[in-house]
Amino acid sequence: MFTPKHPLHLTPVGLVLIPILVASVLTGGLGFAIGLSGRWAVVSQAPLLITAILIYAATLFFLGRSGIATIRGLEHRAHIDPLTGLPNRHALHEDIQFLARGEDEVALAMIDLDSFKQVNDHYGHGVGDQLIALCGEVLREVCGKEARCYRLGGDEFAAVMGGKVAGTILEGICRALLDKLGTPLTLGPRHIAVGASIGLARSTADSRIPSSEMLRRADVAMDMSKRGGKMRCTWFNESFDRRRERVREIEDEIRTGIAAGEFHLAYQPLVDAQDKRIVAVEALLRWNRGPDRDPLTPNIFIPVAEDSGLINPLGVWVLRQAVCDAGRWGDITLSVNISAAQLRNAEFPIKLGEVLEETGFPPHRLELEVTETCLVLDPVVAERTLDVIRSFGVRIVLDDFGTGYASIGFLRRFRFEKLKLDRSLVELAGVDDGSRAMMISSIALARALDMGVTAEGVETEEQAELVRLAGADQIQGWLYHRAVPATEIDRLIARQNDTDAKAKDGKAA
Ligand code: C2E
Ligand code: CA
Ligand code: CA
Repeated sequence: MFTPKHPLHLTPVGLVLIPILVASVLTGGLGFAIGLSGRWAVVSQAPLLITAILIYAATLFFLGRSGIATIRGLEHRAHIDPLTGLPNRHALHEDIQFLARGEDEVALAMIDLDSFKQVNDHYGHGVGDQLIALCGEVLREVCGKEARCYRLGGDEFAAVMGGKVAGTILEGICRALLDKLGTPLTLGPRHIAVGASIGLARSTADSRIPSSEMLRRADVAMDMSKRGGKMRCTWFNESFDRRRERVREIEDEIRTGIAAGEFHLAYQPLVDAQDKRIVAVEALLRWNRGPDRDPLTPNIFIPVAEDSGLINPLGVWVLRQAVCDAGRWGDITLSVNISAAQLRNAEFPIKLGEVLEETGFPPHRLELEVTETCLVLDPVVAERTLDVIRSFGVRIVLDDFGTGYASIGFLRRFRFEKLKLDRSLVELAGVDDGSRAMMISSIALARALDMGVTAEGVETEEQAELVRLAGADQIQGWLYHRAVPATEIDRLIARQNDTDAKAKDGKAA
């Protein structure tokens, strides 16, 4: 066990030598001063010698007591998180090692709060600290006497158990914890449902692993819970490591793919809901990986690029390429997708400004599509960045509307110029009354807030009619156009301009 050394720490040799030194200085010195020597000096100074030894013993006793108390205090503090009073990561490692020596099965749960960051951003760090302390109490309560709980730092907690069916019992405890954290906790005047994602890992007598590996596995499983939609427990599985390995490979391939020019853009037209003329195009990233490698869709490689930060160079390339292509397309609006990682990057508005300046692309023809999750992750930073982007004259569109929980407050706060109704909402509206009511009211709400509305993923005439009647002003979907190469957009626009010119001539004649 780690034992910090007290500043007054004395070795046993020191403990013996110091009194002898003190005694000989006192007795020898005094005897010499009054003219005695040798044995007589010691005998004559016996009372003084005894007093010195007694004083020394008493001093040692008090120093020893306060020293031990200080050492114990330091030891305690080195193992306890001051905010929650729970043991910390250091203690967790020791406990796992201890349990592994005596118990058949050791199970570990890694618990990460889901929306702690938003609470901190919304209400400040004081409330954030109170919430952590309260979550610590909830965890302590659900663990009871069965499991030991810890705070590992930030919004990360853990629980550990040893015993024959430790894993099963700990999983039950975790589910009870999710129930509690999924319902609002009361913090003064506020009620906050923070939620959590949990990863579980176990080791048994015949497959012992070091405590550090156990923590890593639980952490990987927790990450899977987060990716799987949060508010869930996931047991570690070896396939997670293989998947991570694959993700790392894709990451390397993206890096080399950017350098080798393997990425290109497709554009999907958006049409006016009434006259079906192309009014905008959305730039969609494609990866030409050649015939020897498995094809990857943006839904696979974009999340990898986001996690690794590669979306930053890739996103700037998309922006530059898209405005270069769209420069040829008259007054058609260009929509470009922006990821959360790009929005959080302070460099992004600077790069956007550079691209607009270098290419001379009119900012009012550019729209950036952002998703709700992108804004919820870091609303304060997002709001600041969006303000800078708007100051250039670029518009902001809320993408995939209807898949999240966007409230009226949220829509007002970010003042989007346009909402894009998600394909799932459009699809369900055709078959289910509840979804249809939701779609109609979403469009009405957007209109009331002075936002434009695009319906996305429209595949049938019935869906097109439905969104048109509900008030959508633009339609995007395979019914009208799929994503096509830039050269095909050149052709479509030339044809549209031709038709317009003929209609004009016809009117004039
Ligand atoms: P998104 O922004 O929601 O883009 C629309 C997706 O729906 C596109 O898929 C498009 O091809 C598809 N789609 C359009 N109409 C229909 C339809 O009628 N039926 C069906 N079934 N699908 C339709 P894609 O191109 O595979 O892109 C998937 C996602 O990848 C995009 O979803 C967007 O989130 C992301 N993405 C694509 N390009 C970029 C990019 O340059 N940057 C970033 N950050 N994300 C991108
Ligand atoms: Ca989009
Ligand atoms: Ca979308």
